[in-house]
Amino acid sequence: MRFAPNSLWCRVVSAIYSNGSCTKESAWWKDVKVACGGEGEGWFQEGILKHVRAGNATKFWLEDWSGVGILRERYFRLYNLSRLKGAFISDCGVWVQGVWNWKFEWRRPIVGREVLWLQNLISDLAGVRLVENSMDKWTWSPSPDGVYSVNSSYSFLQVADLAPPNPIFNLIWHAAAPSSVVAFARRCILDRIPCFESLLKRHVISSYDAAVCLFCQKDIETSFHLLFSCTFALDVWYGCLNWLGISSALPMEPRAHLLQFRFGSYTSHNQGLMTIWLAGIWTLWLSRNAKVFRQEEAIVTNALELIKLRSWQWIRTKITTFGYSIFEWYSNPLLCIQCM
Ligand SMILES: [Zn+2]
Repeated sequence: MRFAPNSLWCRVVSAIYSNGSCTKESAWWKDVKVACGGEGEGWFQEGILKHVRAGNATKFWLEDWSGVGILRERYFRLYNLSRLKGAFISDCGVWVQGVWNWKFEWRRPIVGREVLWLQNLISDLAGVRLVENSMDKWTWSPSPDGVYSVNSSYSFLQVADLAPPNPIFNLIWHAAAPSSVVAFARRCILDRIPCFESLLKRHVISSYDAAVCLFCQKDIETSFHLLFSCTFALDVWYGCLNWLGISSALPMEPRAHLLQFRFGSYTSHNQGLMTIWLAGIWTLWLSRNAKVFRQEEAIVTNALELIKLRSWQWIRTKITTFGYSIFEWYSNPLLCIQCM
């Protein structure tokens, strides 16, 4: 579909699956995504490269095309204000005598810090060179001519299989959390979440003052600080330990923190504990975003309640044999985990 978008078969599949006419995916389509390594990542996603020309087949906010990451994640507030959330790049500007000019449409006038964010966005896009009247296209990197073939995929997968499996990722992969949360955890372990420090490095924010953690107002907001060593995060994690009835120190590096959260003798309960760990980092991240984007106060007891609730909901959804009530989960989580 990526390589021959105008072919008849591709247009038929797109009409069925991409235009909103299909509300429920078929088993066949799910199998295709699993075979490709999952939605949004996996071996197929790694092998394809998009070449942006005029930007007529690339979503401005939603695709990773600009060289600075997905713009929706980087400029979430501006994305929310945009009237063209699903627009292609070519819809976000005009050509004037061979020169591309960005032209955005907002739901209301841009004010305050939004002006700075818009300046940063335009600055990020300064290096982009669009090509007038030229179609965006996909190429398949494992193949020398850029054209997808079964043979090149086979060779690509053989090489990929030689890479040692990462036991850390296996741990979170088997947890009961939604795939989007597992993907977030993976980015967290790889230090790739868009916290203030990463924005500072990319000159999206210009001063250290603007990169200070909003929870403690003391240190620069790195991903490790935000999720593991900030006083707010520490209070939340030790609240979790208290809920679990476990006494333990917790490291401040994500891999070590994750491994420690299995707590030795409870290794048979990995799936439940990993789910709680994922609910922990996800809740901390959402609390941070609520503070950054909606100025909502972060409260430790509220975060703890959400971790308990989210982990219970995720386990109930994914593990059909798990029949404990929310009250039983709140009262004795380890007992419930033993029976997963
Ligand atoms: Zn902090």
